Amino acid sequence: MPRRYGPYGGAFVPETLVPALVELERTWTEARADPAFRAELTLLSRTLGGRPTPLYFARNLTRRAGGAEIWLKREDLVHGGAHKFNNALGQGLLARRMGKPRLIAETGAGQHGVATASIGAALGLETEVYMGEVDMARQRPNVERMRLLGAKVHPVTTGSRTLKDAINAALRDWIANVRTTHYLLGSAVGPHPFPSLVADFQSVIGREILRQSRQSFGALPDLAVACVGGGSNAIGTFRPMLRTKVALLGIEAGGPRGGSRGAASLSHGRPGVLHGAYTYVLQNREGQVADTESVSAGLDYAGVGPEHAWLRDSGRVTYRAVHDDGALTAFRWLAEEEGILPALEPAHAIYAAVGEARRRSGRERVVVTLSGRGDKDLEVVLGALRRGA
Ligand SMILES: *Cc1c(COP(=O)(O)O)cnc(C)c1O
Repeated sequence: MPRRYGPYGGAFVPETLVPALVELERTWTEARADPAFRAELTLLSRTLGGRPTPLYFARNLTRRAGGAEIWLKREDLVHGGAHKFNNALGQGLLARRMGKPRLIAETGAGQHGVATASIGAALGLETEVYMGEVDMARQRPNVERMRLLGAKVHPVTTGSRTLKDAINAALRDWIANVRTTHYLLGSAVGPHPFPSLVADFQSVIGREILRQSRQSFGALPDLAVACVGGGSNAIGTFRPMLRTKVALLGIEAGGPRGGSRGAASLSHGRPGVLHGAYTYVLQNREGQVADTESVSAGLDYAGVGPEHAWLRDSGRVTYRAVHDDGALTAFRWLAEEEGILPALEPAHAIYAAVGEARRRSGRERVVVTLSGRGDKDLEVVLGALRRGA
């Protein structure tokens, strides 16, 4: 399990957490070699999670773009409505293997909180979720879902009251309760081994895309596109393709048009340490973590997984930002053309994918990871449409 990605990654944490990180890495190394663990992970992915998810040919959207074929990897159909389940299930099983009865998690859009709460219920683990007050207000239905699933939701009132502050609160809880508690981190970020571990659990997305592409059109895709918040659905999509010829494009949140850096840490940030890892971070001149802005709570994060930092520098993956209005436009395209309401996070990727498809020939194929469904975003979308976006 790589500890470093070039200069990025590492584990910059207080000493009290080191034993827990070492135990987590050892448990995962043993578990992945244990056929019984792998069998249970596969079985529950299928019977509880709904995997494998389909690869769908978006015929109407393709016609609208007028170029390469656009295919959607339907992670919106995973249990709970997003790819977050893949990681929550894997780590939930590791927590049980370590004998830890309590899960804590941070959440931005609420999707990871919902995934953790449902895994906590299914595996009989007590679950508490930290969520910024701002995010609680804009993702109200997910707050209610977590509570109905038996989780306690703690509002976080410090800082910008969004995801980064929720991670800080969860880390504080973990330091205080590390013997009984597993911190079920929701993205490919944070101290080693989390970025590698989460990427492993999410790589099922890319493996299925490769297999389904061969089955559906007898070749690998020419381009794979995924949105990047912390970067877990993107790294899960990209990792199995790194050694192929598939071009890879990660899309960050550009925020509102006109001067904002949004939450685009790879496009507008600088290397620094955030939440235990050395990676690209949006910072102000003094090196303070900058406040971020995005229409999608799930992308609204000043950092990014360290593997993406390395893939950016190495040039293997291209990263670009799409503004809020692009995501809202793509939301409507997918709704009107395909009858699918996407989450606003992957709507950023769909907007970019349509632009890419337009520039490519009809013989090429673009696969986009549709990381989640849009039910949670209806209020935000309707509000934006009323304001004339
Ligand atoms: C959380 C979330 C994201 C962003 O997280 P990553 O770790 O970057 O994948 C993207 N899409 C959806 C639907 C989400 O819920």
